[in-house]
Amino acid sequence: MTNENEPLNSNARVLDRALGAFLGLAVGDALGATVEFMTSVEIAARYRIHNQIIGGGWLSLKPGQVTDDTEMALALGAALIASGGWNLRAIADAFVAWMRRGPVDIGNTTRRGLVHYLSTGQLSVPPSKGDGGNGAAMRHLPAVLVSLNNDQMLVQRCIEQAHITHHHPKSDAAITTLGRMTRRLVLFGTEAAVDELAFDLIRCHPEFTFRPWPGRTSGYVVDTVQTVFDGFFHTDNFEDCLVRVVNRGGDADTAGALAGQLAGALYGTRGIPDRWLNRLAPGVISTVRQQTSKLLRLS
Ligand code: MN
Ligand code: MN
Repeated sequence: MTNENEPLNSNARVLDRALGAFLGLAVGDALGATVEFMTSVEIAARYRIHNQIIGGGWLSLKPGQVTDDTEMALALGAALIASGGWNLRAIADAFVAWMRRGPVDIGNTTRRGLVHYLSTGQLSVPPSKGDGGNGAAMRHLPAVLVSLNNDQMLVQRCIEQAHITHHHPKSDAAITTLGRMTRRLVLFGTEAAVDELAFDLIRCHPEFTFRPWPGRTSGYVVDTVQTVFDGFFHTDNFEDCLVRVVNRGGDADTAGALAGQLAGALYGTRGIPDRWLNRLAPGVISTVRQQTSKLLRLS
């Protein structure tokens, strides 16, 4: 929460919350990846509560290693910075270059979409019932940070970057809402500014209802958003939000990344526990820091 005792000036507060969102995404990815595809019962049996960044998991990660969620966001951010602004072909090329580097993980829909781009040159896949995964939502943050001054442009860009690989109405709705929520949190720093956006999503798409939490944790974007909202709206600090979300299991790194994005934008960098930040893989914090300030300058 911002208040008159806040020592930072207004621009510095916006930058801190933007940085909190991007670091929160990386922290949530690294924390959640350990328990990705486990059930909550398996997590509890093994860790009681999973709340340390220790790597491992089905990808045998090093402690603090991030996965495709953070890597694709960084590829998107780097493409925007190199292009000096929005450039959809540069984004698609950056995703392809990332895929060719042999990432630790890549979703099936993402791979199929990038192969479609390579073979057709088209920057949008056709609409598909199979594209409702969370793979386009997990990486959209840089499209928000480069568009902070224009809500309508932000929505258009968030969806354009999604359609390179994922073209599905629920994915579009989720990304629009998450992106607009993140923008308002970064600009205004209060949860009250985003309640109505979550409410609007549920009014237009009732399947996103998250009270009570329906208990599903698959990579379907509706399940992910419900899990993220349950954590975000039912906790009052970054750590509790992330611990609640990743201990649900399932697509825990992606739900963790998106919860970290929202909670980091609300609570700022000082809300993120040092023990988590200190564990992030070398270079992640400095790259995120550089990208965040450059993206805000472009916005
Ligand atoms: Mn991942
Ligand atoms: Mn995932």
